[in-house]
Amino acid sequence: VSIEKNVPLAKFSSLKIGGPADFFARVSDEKDLVATADFARRKKLRILIGGSGTNCLFCDAGFRGIFLKIENRGLAFAHKKINRSKTEFAQISAGENLAKFVAAAAKRNWEIAGLAGIPGTVGGAIAGNAGAHGCEISDIFQSARIFDLRRGKFFTVRKNFFQFFYRDSALKNQNNFVIFSATFARPQKTFWQKFRAKFSRKTSPAEEISQIQKKRAARYPFGAGAGSFFKNPPGKFAGELLEKSGVKNLIHGGAVVSSEHANFFLNSKNATAVDFLNLAVEARRAVFKKFKIELQPEVLLLDEFGEKIEI
Ligand SMILES: Cc1cc2nc3c(=O)[nH]c(=O)nc-3n(C[C@H](O)[C@H](O)[C@H](O)COP(=O)(O)OP(=O)(O)OC[C@H]3O[C@@H](n4cnc5c(N)ncnc54)[C@H](O)[C@@H]3O)c2cc1C
Repeated sequence: VSIEKNVPLAKFSSLKIGGPADFFARVSDEKDLVATADFARRKKLRILIGGSGTNCLFCDAGFRGIFLKIENRGLAFAHKKINRSKTEFAQISAGENLAKFVAAAAKRNWEIAGLAGIPGTVGGAIAGNAGAHGCEISDIFQSARIFDLRRGKFFTVRKNFFQFFYRDSALKNQNNFVIFSATFARPQKTFWQKFRAKFSRKTSPAEEISQIQKKRAARYPFGAGAGSFFKNPPGKFAGELLEKSGVKNLIHGGAVVSSEHANFFLNSKNATAVDFLNLAVEARRAVFKKFKIELQPEVLLLDEFGEKIEI
């Protein structure tokens, strides 16, 4: 594995923000992962695990340690007999694009179109329990092959290891375990879903994906962002609360709240991480003032030691 020095994280972030990581390694296979973990252990380096960087705000000062960019690829589908019935499973490498998995699954009539259009890797989607349109990746998740960076060992875990909840899991914002690959199962249909599918279904999963992609293109602002900045509080929409609090078009330096969608914060012009933090603090304060609700960031805000910044 080739380990580079002083690599700007902005290049690997959809927000285009982030200073240099002291060390940077692209992990494409098991050998790379084992070698990088050895290197980090020998040099006693802190580790930061990353996929496509579409859900992280990296620090302006970068990262004091080694950044592991997970890039292993590959996907395969197979049938297995469980309790006399056949189920279809997909085995996907963590560095694979989620979009590629969703498209391949749609061709096999898996009903997971809700996950269409979410950028990033499969590993990142699992760690953050990515989802949209009433569908979350944990709905179809079965098991994962994990690498323990401290012990230098692979092991397999099932769903309960992850403690999935809304846009979160035990593996988001931790740097001990790398998700290396995962197995997903075709969603089981209930009787009524089967009935509907047979008698009233007009669109195929592939058509549904293209409809969802069109909806997303119309709804979500274009530009350097990281998706929804804040999580939806129970029973409410963060975007609506932010809009009613008058934060649309709010600006801090190069960071701006989109004029189209108040929960999308964009890097309009050479923004820094500090600009984003200031923008987030002000937007959150406006919502608290009006609704007495404390919004929680969905985007992972990181300091130069890879620790989560609380705002
Ligand atoms: C335009 C836009 C639209 C978006 N829309 C949505 C949406 O509809 N729904 C949604 O849920 N999200 C959305 N997002 C956010 C983002 O795409 C998802 O959170 C995505 O799943 C992150 O994947 P990633 O590979 O970029 O992860 P990163 O941002 O690289 O990492 C996110 C977290 O996962 C961890 N991680 C990544 N890979 C691994 C691994 N292999 N092992 C262990 N930990 C790992 C990282 O350490 C970090 O804590 C959107 C983002 C953008 C830019």
